[in-house]
Amino acid sequence: MTRYPLLLIALAAATMAETPTSKEVEAVYPDAQAFYLDLHTHPELSGHETQTATKLAERLRNAGYEVTEKVGGTGVVGVLKNGVGPTIMLRTELDALPVEEKTGLSYASKVQAKDDAGHDVPVMHACGHDLHMASLLGTAEIMARTKNTWHGTLILVGQPAEETITGAKKMVADGFLTRFPKADVGVALHVANDLPAGKIGIAPGTYDANADSLRITIYGKGGHGSAPHTAIDPIVIAARTILALQTIPSREVKPGEMAVVTVGYIRAGNKNNIIPDEAELGLTVRTYKADVRKQVLAAIARITKAEATAGGALREPTIEHYESTDSVYNNPALAERLKGTLESALGKDNVEIQPPHTASEDYSVFVEQGIPSLYFSLGGADPQKFAEAKAAGTTLPSNHSSLFAPDVDPALHTGIKAEVAVLRDLLNSSSDDLHKLTATRQP
Ligand SMILES: [Zn+2]
Ligand SMILES: [Zn+2]
Repeated sequence: MTRYPLLLIALAAATMAETPTSKEVEAVYPDAQAFYLDLHTHPELSGHETQTATKLAERLRNAGYEVTEKVGGTGVVGVLKNGVGPTIMLRTELDALPVEEKTGLSYASKVQAKDDAGHDVPVMHACGHDLHMASLLGTAEIMARTKNTWHGTLILVGQPAEETITGAKKMVADGFLTRFPKADVGVALHVANDLPAGKIGIAPGTYDANADSLRITIYGKGGHGSAPHTAIDPIVIAARTILALQTIPSREVKPGEMAVVTVGYIRAGNKNNIIPDEAELGLTVRTYKADVRKQVLAAIARITKAEATAGGALREPTIEHYESTDSVYNNPALAERLKGTLESALGKDNVEIQPPHTASEDYSVFVEQGIPSLYFSLGGADPQKFAEAKAAGTTLPSNHSSLFAPDVDPALHTGIKAEVAVLRDLLNSSSDDLHKLTATRQP
């Protein structure tokens, strides 16, 4: 009989430990907010996040973490050991994008930098990775101050070059999984404007899409613009190819399956009266399922070659598959458990189940290396503007837009609270329990 009250007390203590209080969040918020504003004003391009990495490393060190820099380029790994228990990883990206900020915010970026091709480009945190870093910092500080609420090892990861889907691979190649304790479970979040700030979105199973980047070069035969009969026009072949590629999602892929084929750029020629020798197309291809991905890539090759043949090209086009990443898979059992945790911390109405996103992420590299994970969405939209846009049937500027401007205060508060809640839950389990929980199907 006496056991039950003890059990209840133990359960209550565990639950309380998991749910971060507003007081805990407010105590670190000024620091996290200042970090956000600094990062937002000083964005850096993928693979060049040197100042960003230094700042993050310094702050984690100050918070008590053992920090290693330059992991896979500019990657940062902070480790906090706190007795026997599981190893849990929380990851943020470090990089910004070549976008000119047009938000008009007082802290808008005015940064210009050279890209890898040597071009001067504007730089903006248009994907919100600055918010992820600020949230991770606030979370890091709370976890370090409240070591009595958890046990185990916490690993914080600042990953470079997410936007070029190369950073995670480089960190793994640089020994991320062997130089540091291997995580039993991983967690990451991404801010987005398809949810109002204050809310969290969870997509159990497939979180986002497979992404494949292709560079197609079509070879024609240059000549005078007035004498097309003496030339083979690669622009006309390219134009037909672009239209024919659109029949892949609409005519070849089974209705209901997700497939996107976007030609994001076409480059050919530089004067109106010259037929150029070549035309280059840049494509991004997005799919959810492995078999659909295979089908779409094969169809692109078939159509591109056939259109070149139809246009009388003298050489077969080249198709370079220069970047790719697999979709991020959210372990369903883990998603179900952490949904409950997030509901306790944020309120039931603030946690939504979402369908998969068409965007892509190289966080999948960590999942494929055997770290079952939950990658969830953090609402970023000003709730009032979100409601107005919804009523008007429009959408707010999305990630990568020059106008992307998350509602920082509620989003950052929610990000910190959500991360602490999830980490405390996981860091009150045992490795064995987490292995049992996540022993469901992996992609
Ligand atoms: Zn992005
Ligand atoms: Zn992003």
